[in-house]
Amino acid sequence: MILILLLKLIMTKISPQEHKNRLRQDLFYWMNNRAKLPSGKQYSFKGHEYMEQIAKHHWVPGDQVFIMKSSQCGASEYAIHWMVWMQERNLPDWQGIAYLFPATEQLRDHIKARIIPIMEMPEFAKNLKNQNLRFFRYNDRPIYFRAAQTRRDLISWSADAAVMDEFDEFGDPIAAVDTIAARFNHSHYKWILGVSTPTYPDIGIDAAYAMSNQFHWFVNCFQCEAAFSPLMEVMSSDFESCVTRDDKGKAGFVCPHCGKLTQTNGAKGEWKLVNKGKDQKYGYAISRLFVGQANLDSLLEKHEDAHNMQEFYNSDLGLPYSPANARLTRSDISDNATGEDMALGSKEPTYAGIDVGKKCHYFIAKKSPTGEKVIIAYGIVPFDEVEDILSKFNVKILVIDLRPYEQEVKKLIRGRRGWYASDYNTSSAVDWYDFTRADIGSKGGSIRVVKNHRTQTCDYLIQQISIKKNWIFPKQAKSDNVLIKQMCASQRMEKSEQDTGEIKAYYGNGGRPDHYFHAAAFLELAFMANRSSGFVQAGPKFHT
Ligand SMILES: [Zn+2]
Repeated sequence: MILILLLKLIMTKISPQEHKNRLRQDLFYWMNNRAKLPSGKQYSFKGHEYMEQIAKHHWVPGDQVFIMKSSQCGASEYAIHWMVWMQERNLPDWQGIAYLFPATEQLRDHIKARIIPIMEMPEFAKNLKNQNLRFFRYNDRPIYFRAAQTRRDLISWSADAAVMDEFDEFGDPIAAVDTIAARFNHSHYKWILGVSTPTYPDIGIDAAYAMSNQFHWFVNCFQCEAAFSPLMEVMSSDFESCVTRDDKGKAGFVCPHCGKLTQTNGAKGEWKLVNKGKDQKYGYAISRLFVGQANLDSLLEKHEDAHNMQEFYNSDLGLPYSPANARLTRSDISDNATGEDMALGSKEPTYAGIDVGKKCHYFIAKKSPTGEKVIIAYGIVPFDEVEDILSKFNVKILVIDLRPYEQEVKKLIRGRRGWYASDYNTSSAVDWYDFTRADIGSKGGSIRVVKNHRTQTCDYLIQQISIKKNWIFPKQAKSDNVLIKQMCASQRMEKSEQDTGEIKAYYGNGGRPDHYFHAAAFLELAFMANRSSGFVQAGPKFHT
């Protein structure tokens, strides 16, 4: 009844032509008039008021919108509506759209449970021609569904827009955005909508958000009426100091202005731009701290019972989370930059760790009489200058990456007693590192290899550096942003295997360079390789 009245009201105000135009131009209008939920119900912004302004975004060619979200906040429905709306707009030269999801099984479930029920409703089905789990033909234009696991999945289609759903589970999400943007060469539109629950800081949707013009949701305190952003408050202090109970046991949000408890879920609010980012990139952060369907009581209870803080922060708060000791922090480096100026060479024997790539990143160190690991120099050189560095600093014990320049590295270390190549060991051996000799009897002598478990090597490095005054960096390191960023870029992550469900830990960098971090890990191995280094607890094992 109400719906009919509402419709009449709209129809009396605008002509059918105007109605058509608005459907084409305005997603907010389209969603109010055409959007359906898989249950068959008409979509409503009620309880999802934070989606209104996102829906009103005026899409200019080249725009990218990223939504960092808690679970069940309506952003996935929004992505589906955006896709259907784009296909219905009849834009000139429109080639179609790609809908990308991290893995095949998930994608199929998503299509069956969330997309097909909508597409098979009569008002949409009349536009739907061809339909299988990889491809729909809708309004005479293709929709490609792809599991974005390989580069091939990302480039095996040609379209004008792409939805990247559950963004953080893509192999390398930020690189994937660039790969997709590059696919849009011949497009007039080049639109990307990225949606994801965050996982780790500076990775995936959090990195995309950080690059963007950043919008936060502000609500007004019920007590003093001043506006604040609940999510920004939790980001700058922490959840415990923001959400507490009153003397009747009712949970509330501590207003940063008046200090009284207020309610934030479903409160009237608005998006405000809090940080300028790159042109044409727009980021929105949605949290259960303010969505209408959630409430602070259940959030607080969840927090108190949470066995898995990662899950609580990511899915409930919509925030990235890094557990303690899962990566190095800026202060781990800057607080320990208490050494001398960088040395230019050394007469005394030294240790070195080198990460090999297009450029080689090195650390040269000594051990102090009291056992501190003192970095006397670090830097970046091309591979053909590595040998000079090693001789200038009189490097006695070296661990260097075996790959990617396997032959060159073998040539460099052949016949040198204390120089080892690190060959990452992927098997879950009991000992996570093992020094061996290889190519015995070869011309020019044997080579020495350390087989080490990658995750455990990185774990060990973080543990060692986070002990205060264990690693001493040269003075320069304090303000060396390249060094600090790379040292902090490696993040310990956990992923459950698709087939077995087994949880595996690994280190990733989210596409940011982390060469110094790995050079430092090799340096730790170099310390272990030296029998006289005083490392007696776990003693390195030598096999001959
Ligand atoms: Zn207040």
